[in-house]
Amino acid sequence: MSSLQEATALLEQSLRTRRSLLGHTRTGVTRESLERLTKTPSPKVSESSNLKSETPRSARLIALNEAVRACRKCEHLAAFRTQTVFGIGNPHAELMFVGEAPGADEDKQGEPFVGRAGELLTKIINAMGLTRNDVYIANVLKCRPDMPKGAAGNRPPTPLEMQRCLPYLREQIAIIQPRVLVALGKTAMAGLTGTDESMSAIRGRWFTFENIPLLPTYHPSYLLRNGSNTEKRKVWEDMLLVMEKLGMAISEKQRGFFRSAS
Ligand code: URA
Repeated sequence: MSSLQEATALLEQSLRTRRSLLGHTRTGVTRESLERLTKTPSPKVSESSNLKSETPRSARLIALNEAVRACRKCEHLAAFRTQTVFGIGNPHAELMFVGEAPGADEDKQGEPFVGRAGELLTKIINAMGLTRNDVYIANVLKCRPDMPKGAAGNRPPTPLEMQRCLPYLREQIAIIQPRVLVALGKTAMAGLTGTDESMSAIRGRWFTFENIPLLPTYHPSYLLRNGSNTEKRKVWEDMLLVMEKLGMAISEKQRGFFRSAS
């Protein structure tokens, strides 16, 4: 397949996904114009040219999402899920948050961190002077862990489930190329690195994942359960480390958040 045909196939796939996610979409691109494009002789591509890195990140993410949507590596999860939950945010984000797995709300809406923990994560992101559109948010596991029939709540993903799903997250990270990764909670950190150290032992310390600086911090749902200012301040100190690493300006007000607790 020529690079142009490959790009056309990706575009077609992207349009199909947009249609299935958003219903009818007007793009101004017709099948005929796509066919004309495919028939146009390919320009000479230099040896060093790498189609993968030239294809827009959003198109590569859409193609990867298609693979995730079709995934049945964990048959019990595929049978239980309403839908897969791929990830959301800016394909060019410098900062990427990684949680463990979708819960019931995320499974219903198809977006990570939209429940109560998600609201708190959004507040943390906003306190950093950013929005959800500036960052990228994903989980190690793309399916909601199954629960016994009629049982409420969520369960953490197993190591095997995370190990099977990790290649998708690895690819997302390779496409987005964030400058900093934040692992939300012990389970996400274990899924990324295999560590079984407690969060209190590792939070606030820099690790790396695929050569990208990785900072573990408490999961927002831990803060919802233990909402003391001392614990909130710890997460905030971790976010200040992230902001420093990214070279973001930090105001005196931001430095002082929850300081009364320390
Ligand atoms: N907790 C997670 O780890 N991920 C979500 O998407 C929601 C809650």
